[in-house]
Amino acid sequence: MRLYLSSDMEGVAGVCAWEQVDARTPHAEYPLFRRYYTQEVAAAIEGARAGGAREVLVNDSHGPMRNLLLDELPSDVRVIFGNRKPFSMVQGAEGCDGAFFVGYHGAIGDENAVLCHTYTPSVIYELRLNGVRCSEATINAALLGYYGIPLLYVTGDRTTVEGVQAQMPWVRGTIVKESIGNFSADSISPRAAQAAIRRDAREAIAHAGAARLFTFEPPIAMEIALAKVEQADYVALIPGFERIGERSVRFVDQDFPTIFKAFCAVFRLGALA
Ligand SMILES: [Zn+2]
Repeated sequence: MRLYLSSDMEGVAGVCAWEQVDARTPHAEYPLFRRYYTQEVAAAIEGARAGGAREVLVNDSHGPMRNLLLDELPSDVRVIFGNRKPFSMVQGAEGCDGAFFVGYHGAIGDENAVLCHTYTPSVIYELRLNGVRCSEATINAALLGYYGIPLLYVTGDRTTVEGVQAQMPWVRGTIVKESIGNFSADSISPRAAQAAIRRDAREAIAHAGAARLFTFEPPIAMEIALAKVEQADYVALIPGFERIGERSVRFVDQDFPTIFKAFCAVFRLGALA
């Protein structure tokens, strides 16, 4: 079993504010929460190893994607580090046998979801694939599904874990906090979260045989509502994008990686508008 682990930071126990997870203009709390984040990832790796995973490939998927304290991870894992990866939070997954999403968060628009957003909140107001409202977990799991990799396990707040399980009932989860709106949470302690993750990750690997692939049936219609009308003005200029509303565009393709890359183009270029 070769495990792919995509890790984000907003869904880590105790996290409830951007300052805690902002690597670019570090606030006094960032170094501490960066450690909790690394410890949750390490706990998931330990659990996965105990469950039978042999190789682990970690993709640091938060912000500038350079947050993990690398010397606190086991020496025999590989880590994808740094930003502007073509497949972003699910870069390099091809060839893996199963996946974990650790520290994930709710979709933009979710109620009671700490720091919820979908990739770039200054650009993406809503993302739908074949009519289904998507979180980061949804679109990321669908790319993995295209490559034949089932999502096995997710950690985050209750909204995130239950949201993933509503779309992918086979996915096991660890709820580390109850979100009280966008900027407060009722959380278990970091140590308790790490122990629960170690235990549940092991179970997730042990039950990997029951997991299924999450995919969208082609043709795949991607509809994106942009945060600002001018972003829709610019995105609609890209060949293949059709304007469907004041700030909404549609892109249709048979091939999921093409959909994923088009989505990355929208949130990256839209941020320049
Ligand atoms: Zn993040």
